[in-house]
Amino acid sequence: MIPPKHASKRMKKTYPEIIYRTSAPLPWIAISPCLVGFPTRYDGRDKRIALPGLDMFNLILFCPEQSAGLGTPREPIRLVSSADGTTHVAGVNSEHDFTSRFSVPCRRMAEFLHKHEVLCFILKARSPSCGVISPLFTSGGIDPVGASPGIWADMILKEFPDIPVFTEDTLPPEYLQQKAASL
Ligand code: SF4
Repeated sequence: MIPPKHASKRMKKTYPEIIYRTSAPLPWIAISPCLVGFPTRYDGRDKRIALPGLDMFNLILFCPEQSAGLGTPREPIRLVSSADGTTHVAGVNSEHDFTSRFSVPCRRMAEFLHKHEVLCFILKARSPSCGVISPLFTSGGIDPVGASPGIWADMILKEFPDIPVFTEDTLPPEYLQQKAASL
């Protein structure tokens, strides 16, 4: 595990659900851990990006695929539209339906988040778990037939309608620094 730049803050829990808490009563930011340097992706890599100002906040890092027990490395998954109109997540090659494995950890994390003052969510774009908009396939299909929120992003959007949800593509460049300056 590669510690993110924020590892100087005190680790309160162990991976995959990690909380970096400062001693100050700062707002929380819930963020995909791959964006801050944790190699949580299916291929064992991260997607670290520069996030100036992030170290001014308490962080909640939650990787739904890790918490669902999919492990790393793992078979990549994708969103699949079922004939009954529901959406699930399935292995790209195996087509195994992993949806039920997300229920408990995502529910638990949502309850945790409801108890905290979350300033915003920063999620990995296009992920079938975290992406606010992710490609949607039919079972066995090769090309996307549409787009839908990832399984974790969908829960966030429904349960936290008043909290901004960004991806690395939509986060305004100065957003974190401006919010930090106003604390
Ligand atoms: S995009 Fe989400 S599910 Fe995928 S590695 Fe990052 S935090 Fe985990």
